[in-house]
Amino acid sequence: MPLLTNLTADRKTFVTHLECSMTGEIYPADEVHGLSRVGRPLLVRYDLPAIAAHLDRAALQSRETDLWRWRELLPVRHVRDIVSLGEIETPLVPLPVSGGANVLVKDEGRLPTGSFKARGLVMAVAMAKALGIKRIAMPTNGNAGAALAAYATRCGIETVVFCPDDTPDINVQEIALQGARVWRVNGLIDDCGAIVGEGAKQGRWFDFSTLKEPYRIEGKKTMGLELASQFGWELPDAIFYPTGGGTGLIGMWKAFDELEALGWIGPKRPKMFAIQAAGCAPIVKAFDDGTEHAERWENAQTVAAGIRVPRAVGDFLILRAVRASGGKALAVEDAAIEAAVQQAARQDGLLLCPEGGATLAAYHYALSAGLVSAADRVVLFNCATGLKYPMADDSRTLDRHAPIDYDAL
Ligand SMILES: *Cc1c(COP(=O)(O)O)cnc(C)c1O
Repeated sequence: MPLLTNLTADRKTFVTHLECSMTGEIYPADEVHGLSRVGRPLLVRYDLPAIAAHLDRAALQSRETDLWRWRELLPVRHVRDIVSLGEIETPLVPLPVSGGANVLVKDEGRLPTGSFKARGLVMAVAMAKALGIKRIAMPTNGNAGAALAAYATRCGIETVVFCPDDTPDINVQEIALQGARVWRVNGLIDDCGAIVGEGAKQGRWFDFSTLKEPYRIEGKKTMGLELASQFGWELPDAIFYPTGGGTGLIGMWKAFDELEALGWIGPKRPKMFAIQAAGCAPIVKAFDDGTEHAERWENAQTVAAGIRVPRAVGDFLILRAVRASGGKALAVEDAAIEAAVQQAARQDGLLLCPEGGATLAAYHYALSAGLVSAADRVVLFNCATGLKYPMADDSRTLDRHAPIDYDAL
């Protein structure tokens, strides 16, 4: 029975400890943690040699393909803590016309709540449940709040969600409908984050901001695990990832290291391209300036709400991964994003979200600039279903009471 066999019995788990991503300082597992003492993300560490002895690629591949097939590489100790809405492995969809013969879209819009935020939040909520957390708050541009609300409501955790007041209505409505108390705030996501941080300091709730708890990365990591398996344990040549907080890019990079430690893949890595919008490109600026951290981007503005993140607490982890991979951080204009969404829909029948459109636009640029070649096997991330976003309306109306000119239809 799909989606259940990986969730019926506890398996051996392998988390050993947590580690500060900046200083390497060690923190005990199975306790509530936010950021490290120096205010940076904590990373979960596993006994990888023990996993290698316990599980091989063939055993893994005989399991159902959902996210929970990766249990040994995930932090949840007990199945009873997992609140699942059916986290499927997402397909790689070719874009032969608008992309090219070697371009695949990892279509994350198929996940519960319609975005890849489900990967991170299903994990973080399971850990919150395991650790006895009763109330959670989060700043969001939409999709993270929706995923948090859905999973937390399902296991009786109370949620308070703060979003910029121009967050798309559909996001705000789905968050509220799925049981969160949602507030529109006259500011950007980091302004919302400041409210969440202050409330957490007052002991009102647990802070679920991007990378401020350790487990969303572990959920997002499954994108890298899935890609390795879907590509037959030979990673693609380049990955284009729309980068806001960068959880997914950091998570995939971590996944590749863990898979190499298991002996399941070799040392070859994809070039990682961090894609941002020209109206909010702090990581691109830091990349170009050669700095380790990114400055806050003032007056952030873009149609791609999911990547409108002026400041990322994991900036140095994103930059390190992109640089180590031989990739690049690239910014694309909103007009190019909108044109790419139209192109993929009209030419290949795949409706991308604006952030997904940004990766297609950036791919075309990278191709023309010689950063990738047409022979490279490329993965573009479509992070959410295009149905959640405003769309151009090219429909026509017909009066059925008037004579109909069938030749003109
Ligand atoms: C959150 C989000 C992103 C950015 O993802 P990060 O891993 O936080 O950088 C991109 N696109 C969409 C649609 C999102 O919801």
